[in-house]
Amino acid sequence: MTKPRTLLALNWKMNKTPTEAKNWARELAGSFTRGTAELAVMAPAIDLPGLKETLPGGVDVGGQDISPHESGAYTGEISAAMLRDVGATYVVVGHSERREYHGETDALVAAKARQAQSGGLTPIVCVGEGLDVRERGEQVPYTLAQLRGSLEGVGENVVVAYEPVWAIGTGRTATADDAEELAVAIRDALRELYGDVADGLRVLYGGSVKPDNIASICAQPNVNGALVGGASLKVADVVGMNDALK
Ligand code: PEP
Repeated sequence: MTKPRTLLALNWKMNKTPTEAKNWARELAGSFTRGTAELAVMAPAIDLPGLKETLPGGVDVGGQDISPHESGAYTGEISAAMLRDVGATYVVVGHSERREYHGETDALVAAKARQAQSGGLTPIVCVGEGLDVRERGEQVPYTLAQLRGSLEGVGENVVVAYEPVWAIGTGRTATADDAEELAVAIRDALRELYGDVADGLRVLYGGSVKPDNIASICAQPNVNGALVGGASLKVADVVGMNDALK
């Protein structure tokens, strides 16, 4: 199996104003040299036009959430077409923070992923177990059930991010073997859904990834990159992660 190109996807969460985002992008442009990984910044939607203007060429941008609807009377929502219009390539859907704080279900996540695809975006669909599930040793069936629900009716232009909730923002990272265990299970499930195309789809790991652990995690045969929260905010860490993947 030829590994798909590694994706280093940054999730800024609710951080950085448009001015701060542009300053970050200028700083990155001054210190970044392209490696083997594709770099994409998932920023607050309002930051995207300035980022797109300022980031070095070839760095992609994306949103952190979208509406499950195409357009219309949905106050406060952002559509796939709006993100696409400001240059987004990707959108994160089903992040554990959206599932936990906004009650997002697998069905809603799937509707968002379908809408992303109809609007020309690649959804990054997040799945992963909480600590209680991990302690019961049920991480594989739990995560696969969540994955199947979140991919209902979703086409093959998709990235999956395995993010164990207990490792997000906690400093507690899954081992490279834990990440690979789930990446293998996820790829098998993707093969059931999409056939051989699944070998070329990207399965990311997310959860306290930083410059000193990214290389060993991404070296796993079925892990094709990382979704990074905390360590995405400082340019030096992003350059460090990008360099570690060279
Ligand atoms: C995330 O927000 O998707 C994430 C993985 O965060 P962190 O890297 O801070 O654990």
